[in-house]
Amino acid sequence: MSASKHNVDPGEIAKFEKLAARWWDPNSEFKPLHDINPLRLDYINERVKLAGKRVLDVGCGGGLLSEGMAALGAQVTGIDMGKAPLNVARLHKHESELDIDYRQTTAEQLASDEPGGFDVVTCLEMLEHVPDPAAVIKACTTLVRDGGHVFLSTINRNPKAYLFAVIGAEYILNMLPRGTHEYAKFIRPSEMEAWARASGLELTDISGMSYNPLTREYRLGRDVSVNYLASFRKA
Ligand code: SAH
Repeated sequence: MSASKHNVDPGEIAKFEKLAARWWDPNSEFKPLHDINPLRLDYINERVKLAGKRVLDVGCGGGLLSEGMAALGAQVTGIDMGKAPLNVARLHKHESELDIDYRQTTAEQLASDEPGGFDVVTCLEMLEHVPDPAAVIKACTTLVRDGGHVFLSTINRNPKAYLFAVIGAEYILNMLPRGTHEYAKFIRPSEMEAWARASGLELTDISGMSYNPLTREYRLGRDVSVNYLASFRKA
């Protein structure tokens, strides 16, 4: 229990608590998550038909991805350490008339309670907010059944990612509050892949999510230099 508690940064949780009330406002600080949600849902559902699958969404926040997956027929459990985001998620699922099990816990804690309990585990846009992302990936691997799928997304660490994800998004375009992202916590795809492999996952795809500031649109593609999304399978 204490080991899993240590892998939560209270300062990071507080950032999301503060903004939680606006989670479902598509023009709020969460606009980027609203914009990428259909892309990542398609990405996941193309690789594993979500209907009927037991899915765990780690760091679910206000439930954008959890709801999307539940709407496609998955049986979704969403976990987060933020109280306010979870409260928003619990209210919003009623508005959407979806059945989702939201819990305040960590991946590490749930991994000791329900190992192999899920067909699919997603952990999107969260790894760059935790002290030890490798430990979260390891817990995700424990939580998925053999042959199951794990989807991870985060931000790459290089000068271009700093320019786009921090300077561009927080200082020029004002898409995100200043201080949302810390460069040092960004993760290179090679690092993610090494941690995943060490925990027993095999990489099946990696795709970029690029933002075009002129069209103000995101698209999925090969360019993983800033935001990226990866798909893994447990052997
Ligand atoms: N995955 C969601 C939300 C991303 S925002 C999406 O992509 O739409 C990041 C979320 O991770 C926040 O809600 C924050 O409270 C949560 N979080 C940060 N550290 C965490 C941890 N160690 N365990 C569980 N949730 C965490």
